[in-house]
Amino acid sequence: MTASPETERRVARQLAPEDAVHPGAANHNAGSVLAPTGSPETSGDRAFMEQALALAREAGELGEIPVGALAVRDGLVIGRGYNRREIDRDPLAHAELIALKQAASQLGAWRLANVVLYVTLEPCAMCAGAMVQGRIARLVYGADDPKTGAAGSLYNLVEEARHNHRPAVTRGVLADESSKLLVDFFRGLRVKGG
Ligand SMILES: [Zn+2]
Repeated sequence: MTASPETERRVARQLAPEDAVHPGAANHNAGSVLAPTGSPETSGDRAFMEQALALAREAGELGEIPVGALAVRDGLVIGRGYNRREIDRDPLAHAELIALKQAASQLGAWRLANVVLYVTLEPCAMCAGAMVQGRIARLVYGADDPKTGAAGSLYNLVEEARHNHRPAVTRGVLADESSKLLVDFFRGLRVKGG
């Protein structure tokens, strides 16, 4: 009597060492950087983050979730953005994408070499992806976003080892101010909503 294919598969699984997954999966998981590494804060970071916070406040005053972003190159601001999703009725209208788009048109190039992006909240997957696509040099953000953050919280697309471009990341710059802005905004909504 010969063993059924199911029995053979079971035996093969029992014989295989614990970590013997198919080679593709092994490669896939081995290359993924999930633990954030991070680069240290530099002297100008706080001042630029203050400007990003001012942009976030502008968004909040318009009834938008208060997130602001600033694109800086060689110490000069070349892009500014704040969340405009509701006003523009545009799922792409995140602060970061607006700032990156402005920076690209300032530079006349899609490649945002030497650009540092400051954003008050950890970027989502869409924005983190755009930062990698735009080859920015560095991302500096304020508060972590455990729900949708793609720079270390939920995913880490920015420091992903399998990408051929990895911006440096600095986390937690004026994080308290940034999250207070968000907390106050949502508290205000609840009060208004009753
Ligand atoms: Zn985003």
